[in-house]
Amino acid sequence: MKTFETDAIVLSTRDYGESDRLVTFHSAGFGRLRGIAKGARRSRKRFANVFEPCSLVRVECRERNSFIWIEACKLVEPYLPMRADIEKWAYAALFSEIILEMVPEGESHLAPFLLHKETLDRLERDKDPQNVLVLALLRFQFLMGYMPALDGCVICRRRFETANKWFWQAAEGKLVCEDHFCPNTSYIAMDTGTLALIHYLRKIPLEKTWRLRMRREMKAPLLMGLLDWFCCNTRKEIQSIKVLEQILPSCGFAWPVNRKDSAR
Ligand SMILES: [Zn+2]
Repeated sequence: MKTFETDAIVLSTRDYGESDRLVTFHSAGFGRLRGIAKGARRSRKRFANVFEPCSLVRVECRERNSFIWIEACKLVEPYLPMRADIEKWAYAALFSEIILEMVPEGESHLAPFLLHKETLDRLERDKDPQNVLVLALLRFQFLMGYMPALDGCVICRRRFETANKWFWQAAEGKLVCEDHFCPNTSYIAMDTGTLALIHYLRKIPLEKTWRLRMRREMKAPLLMGLLDWFCCNTRKEIQSIKVLEQILPSCGFAWPVNRKDSAR
């Protein structure tokens, strides 16, 4: 029987059996972590308000008979102002949903956890939460090793610095120049400045990430590209996109990414 303690962010909670809850966390020490909170639905005192999605908690667990049992859970940061803002809350939920799909269970990888925690902190404080979400998603893809290179045309090998018009066929992970893009596929129009910023983001430490500012008109297309890439590669649907569809059409967010019409 092994006991352990770790900082964690609540990803999802659901009822389990007659009186328990099954809680999934993104933990600092063990990646994605699933544990059973015994009697959590019967006794509200023991686990009061600690299993709300996106809350930062300190959780104490015991591993027994190949199950993880949650012994205690302390609320560290509930991010209350963020929950009161629908746009910020939608971004936090979307980022958590992607983490839930992509972070492996039981593997210690501290960098994605620190990114998740800082993203929630920044979403709460920053005046431009959409910029925070796009930077966080880009950085997360780099960390997990899934981000395509985006350093030039995949067909003619021309470098991105040598032209100003680029087309990111996000679903296929390909960047192509003006001469080689095919209008019958889904693509995001990109400029050199945005590509340079994405490259710069790969090299800097996490704390410097949030100083970067995406061009206003590039944020929604980049977000669409990143989500299109995610959905095509994992063959999963992101439930939180439904909320974005309702709150973001004014800034150019259109889902699903159109074929033919997405050039701007
Ligand atoms: Zn080319």
